[in-house]
Amino acid sequence: SALSAADEVNSLLASYPDFPLDGIVFRDLNPVFANAAAFRAMIDALVGRFQGRFDAVAGIEARGFLLAAAIGYAADVAVLAVRKGGKLPGAVLTEEYDLEYGSARLELELGQLPAGSRVLIVDDVLATGGTIAATMRLIERAGYALTGVGVVLELEELDGRSRLGNADVHAIVAL
Ligand code: AMP
Repeated sequence: SALSAADEVNSLLASYPDFPLDGIVFRDLNPVFANAAAFRAMIDALVGRFQGRFDAVAGIEARGFLLAAAIGYAADVAVLAVRKGGKLPGAVLTEEYDLEYGSARLELELGQLPAGSRVLIVDDVLATGGTIAATMRLIERAGYALTGVGVVLELEELDGRSRLGNADVHAIVAL
């Protein structure tokens, strides 16, 4: 019988202590993506949670792209790629944010959707929330309306949710 998306993620995710740095437990979701039934359950869960409330799905480079492509197809909505800095041509919006070491940039190409389009942001892991908070600023600055945020895994001890204001955040699994 079919497992729930949460059961699939819990049973397949792998944890690597001290990767890529001492003190960090890296959560590897590739085994979830690599299992067809788990992947389908994960996509269906995210689509179902926000069903009918979004006109586009924005995936964050790189693992968010995998989710966004499948969600866009399943929900028959537009797909946006939020890219790391310096990769997009033409008119782009840029948001810079702090990482544990140094900073990062995310960018969104302008003029992709009608003003006011309702956008769902997706990524694999919500950790400190800096990446998703920067993406929320890009969506707002582009003139779109944020439907919510969907992630496969939320690392609760890092309290990333507190950086996302009153956004409607859904995690398939919280650890
Ligand atoms: P953050 O901006 O801190 O929420 O981190 C977001 C990104 O960093 C996610 O897209 C993850 O890919 C990655 N990330 C951060 N912490 C972890 C972790 N412990 N395991 C796996 N990926 C992580």
